[in-house]
Amino acid sequence: MPDTLPLRLDVTNLSRSFGGRKVVDGVSLSVAAGQVTCLLGPSGCGKSTTLRIIAGVDRADAGEVRLDGQTVAGPGVHVPPELRSVGLMFQDFALFPHLTVAENVGFGLRLDRAEKARRVGELLEKVDLGGFGPKHPHELSGGEQQRVALARALAPNPRVMLMDEPFSGLDNRLRDGIRDRTLDLLKEAGTAVLLVTHEPDEAMRMADEIALMRGGRIVQKGAPYNVYNAPVDKAAAAFFSDVN
Ligand code: ADP
Ligand code: MG
Repeated sequence: MPDTLPLRLDVTNLSRSFGGRKVVDGVSLSVAAGQVTCLLGPSGCGKSTTLRIIAGVDRADAGEVRLDGQTVAGPGVHVPPELRSVGLMFQDFALFPHLTVAENVGFGLRLDRAEKARRVGELLEKVDLGGFGPKHPHELSGGEQQRVALARALAPNPRVMLMDEPFSGLDNRLRDGIRDRTLDLLKEAGTAVLLVTHEPDEAMRMADEIALMRGGRIVQKGAPYNVYNAPVDKAAAAFFSDVN
């Protein structure tokens, strides 16, 4: 990772247990401005738990989370989620069904009416949904709804975007286009992206850096090419074996 770019997200030694079982075990990772780090690993390895701790909706037992150099979680520190400059995108992107597209995108933006309308219009143009503002979510396709969710996540201009498999609910035909577009928009804005996925293909395609996770631990970190070509062990090699 180029060391000229400022680190937006820096996580050190996070651990979290449930019922005596350590599901996140000493996880450290970082993401620089305008970069995509993929947290990659099989189902159940602790990816979502890690993301939830970074977002502030769960607490670690140990470790530290820094955003733009500020400690937001650590010994004696817990900045609430709404005061962390992070955006969240999940697979279940849950738009408010009774609100229009424009109201969904503008929800929670603290701007006056005219400014909000301008910002929402600009965001909808960005995701190619100009003119969709007055519609309701049920009138939109899955891909269009996902783009509304993207516009909503971009609206407050977060410094860090946390994405938990947000593309896996989309059919293949739509997925590549929406995924490329989304990450381009985020990188262009200088946002640091932590993208969780269980698909090696997706990580190979989208990541500047891969953090490979297994059983709660990061077992390997590096550029996609390096992680793919020099897997740390047999299990890592097997995990990557069906990338095409
Ligand atoms: P991933 O996102 O990689 O699939 P998760 O972080 O969701 O993995 O889960 C890691 C492990 O922690 C799983 O075994 C899961 O069942 C367990 N787990 C997650 N959240 C809780 C919870 N709130 N209570 C108990 N166990 C949990
Ligand atoms: Mg998960």
